[in-house]
Parts: sequence; structure tokens; C-alpha cells
Amino acid sequence: MGVVRKTKHLEQVLRVFLQSSDALSAGMLLDVLDKEINKSTVYRMLDKLEDDGVIHSFLTMGQIRFYALCKGCSSGRHVDSHAHFQCTSCKRVSCFSEEIVLPTSERARITSAQVLLTGQCESCL
Ligand SMILES: [Zn+2]
Ligand SMILES: [Zn+2]
Ligand SMILES: [Zn+2]
Repeated sequence: MGVVRKTKHLEQVLRVFLQSSDALSAGMLLDVLDKEINKSTVYRMLDKLEDDGVIHSFLTMGQIRFYALCKGCSSGRHVDSHAHFQCTSCKRVSCFSEEIVLPTSERARITSAQVLLTGQCESCL
């Protein structure tokens, strides 16, 4: 696979994220991307984008990993400490922009939180 093609695939993945207001799983990406892009390619691209501070990932119900675009993160340093929301009816997942205030503790240095809020989304209410 040539470099040009690889870049094209990466652009395609980014475009899907930019066009979606929701967070996406690797499986959802596979459904909308070119058929020539296989699962391991998708995972490799997602890993790279996460390393580059472009997207962040988190676990949802059923331990399924979802990915969403970052705001203000840079290579090797993620500053996303917000909660994520999953609708229990339609299973859609999105970022919640409200910052989470990290607790301080003498027993540990807390640097991030994985918070998954669940309930009904606007369209399922
Ligand atoms: Zn980030
Ligand atoms: Zn819903
Ligand atoms: Zn997020």
C-alpha cells in the first residue's frame, strides 16, 4: 500500500469524525469506510490519531471502545477530562463538554477520569 493511499484513508476517517456529532466505534467506522479498508487498518489509524492528539478513546457499555475528536490536545498529551454520555435506548455515544473536576487525594495523584453517564438522549426522551 502506497503512502498516498494511506493518507487518503486517514483523511476519510477524519472526515467521518468531522461529519458526525457522535462518538464512533471501530465497527461503525468500518461500516461507512471503503470496503478495501480492513479492521486492522482501522485500528492502526485510530491508534495513530490518538497518539497524535486528534482523537481520544473511552469505554462504553459492554466495554466497547468509542472514539471522538479532541479539542486542544496535542501529540502525546491529552487534556480531555470530560464525561461521555451513552443513551440506553439508541446506544448512541457523545462527548459531554462539561469539565469534570478531578478530586485531589493524598493517596494518589489523579490526572484523568473515565466517566460514562447513561440515560435517554434528546431524541429518545
Ligand atoms: Zn484528547
Ligand atoms: Zn437515544
Ligand atoms: Zn470525549
